[in-house]
Amino acid sequence: MRHHIIYTKLDDRLYHHQKTSPLDNPRLVHFNHALADALGFDAADKTLDWQAIIGADFTAFTPEFTPLAMVYAGHQFGHWAGQLGDGRGVLLTQILDKNNKLTDLHLKGAGLTPFSRMGDGRAMIGSSVREYLGSHALNVLGVPSSNALGLVVSDTLIRRHQAVPAAALLRTSDCHVRLGHFEWIMAYAPDLLPTFTQFCMAHYFDPDEHHQNEINHQSDSHQTNTKHQNPPTIEQFLRQVCRRTARMIADWQLVGFIHGVMNTDNLNITGSTLDFGPFAMMERFTPSWIANHSDDYGRYTYQNQPQIGAWNLQLWLRLFTSLGVHTHTVQACLDEYERTLRTHYEAGLCQKLGLAYDDNAIALAYDFLDLLKNYELDYTNSFRALIAVAYDSTDNSTDKSAHLHETNLLTTLEQEIARFGAHEQRTWQAWRTRYQKHLQTHATQAIAIMQRTNPVYVLRNPMAQNAIIALENGDTSELERIFTLLSTPFNVQDIATADDTTPTHRLEMTPVSC
Ligand code: AMP
Ligand code: MG
Ligand code: MG
Repeated sequence: MRHHIIYTKLDDRLYHHQKTSPLDNPRLVHFNHALADALGFDAADKTLDWQAIIGADFTAFTPEFTPLAMVYAGHQFGHWAGQLGDGRGVLLTQILDKNNKLTDLHLKGAGLTPFSRMGDGRAMIGSSVREYLGSHALNVLGVPSSNALGLVVSDTLIRRHQAVPAAALLRTSDCHVRLGHFEWIMAYAPDLLPTFTQFCMAHYFDPDEHHQNEINHQSDSHQTNTKHQNPPTIEQFLRQVCRRTARMIADWQLVGFIHGVMNTDNLNITGSTLDFGPFAMMERFTPSWIANHSDDYGRYTYQNQPQIGAWNLQLWLRLFTSLGVHTHTVQACLDEYERTLRTHYEAGLCQKLGLAYDDNAIALAYDFLDLLKNYELDYTNSFRALIAVAYDSTDNSTDKSAHLHETNLLTTLEQEIARFGAHEQRTWQAWRTRYQKHLQTHATQAIAIMQRTNPVYVLRNPMAQNAIIALENGDTSELERIFTLLSTPFNVQDIATADDTTPTHRLEMTPVSC
């Protein structure tokens, strides 16, 4: 581990050195060895007592560890919430990974901090397992996200609906600076804004930012593609944060991830998914589904995520007018956010159909989404089923053993549509014919694209729930199985059960309350 602690260079009003509170009898129930390797852990790092470290036992820390709780603020559910901060987590250390990429190790569930407010500084097994599996799954799917190195459960009892055991998670992220950090500064220490902004530009501006799978028509964004040998201007920095956030949210929409609590304190400035709480993966395609039980007005539904991203960013961008950023620039950043999100999303949709990115393919994709919505079809399975449609268009489609899983998915899809009636079946057949026309002679190529774009397995809520219940009974096998399943989600696997690819009945979803 190459420690590279930069946060303590900042003004000490921005953090509190925080000793952790050890958990009672911690048991390491999972450790992500592949992630440890990617982070450049050497033999000595591997012999550290990670069970004790994640159990918040500071006697197991090496001298380089500098646990600290960050202060930040935020808007929660659209309202100013004032000071928040790390109430149950500490930044343990910052390191450079194998590729010299700055990575934070953050221990979540490490005990009380000055920012715990009414909380107890701890985390339940359920939320920890969900974050552990959810962040792993997004990483594998290529969605920018935090990840986690390990998970412990303990005998420390915490009070929730009843007394339950506490868990802790060692989270990794490229950045824990949230939009809410800047909000805290503006509200409580505005003199820090220039230096804090400089700090973020120096450490979190990516001069090699690449535009993953999106084709950019915009002439004015060429300048942002060039490498910056010099420090970026503040405008370049703001624009990049907007683009990265846009790509993250477009990726969420593409994989069907509903964050559930997109408060300004839960979005960071590198556009990587942070703070998994009441998140969910889309099952039967219901864009208005509310994943978060405390989201009374449906603010954070799937369909609202793009506009909530813009809402959060406009609050954030306006803070910089005090540094001389013009309101035109704020608008230009928001326009760039909107454009990047749409382009990245639509390019991704075309890819999910296995097609080249063009207006006809985009129209076809939106029509497919309408079908999914109208006939309450499973988001993940339906896109995967398109492999079977494409296979029908190939010369060798007589081999019935090929793409068996996808053929079964397609059969289910067509049966479900048939339940709606003859008109709906005709609507589907018409779309299918249109799609096959589009594929023309490219069906084989389309299959290859779809096989690496449309996962077979995503973390459905009941899967996480089963792993949690098993773990609460001392059984780690389900956690292990699902972790493995989600490690290669594009491959059909023997360890899967029917439940892993069966959508929850739509009535079990939380309906929108108007
Ligand atoms: P969230 O919106 O869930 O990410 O959390 C909002 C704020 O509540 C953050 O400042 C958290 O650190 C804090 N928080 C959440 N749960 C706890 C807890 N059990 N103890 C202390 N603080 C907490
Ligand atoms: Mg301090
Ligand atoms: Mg949070």
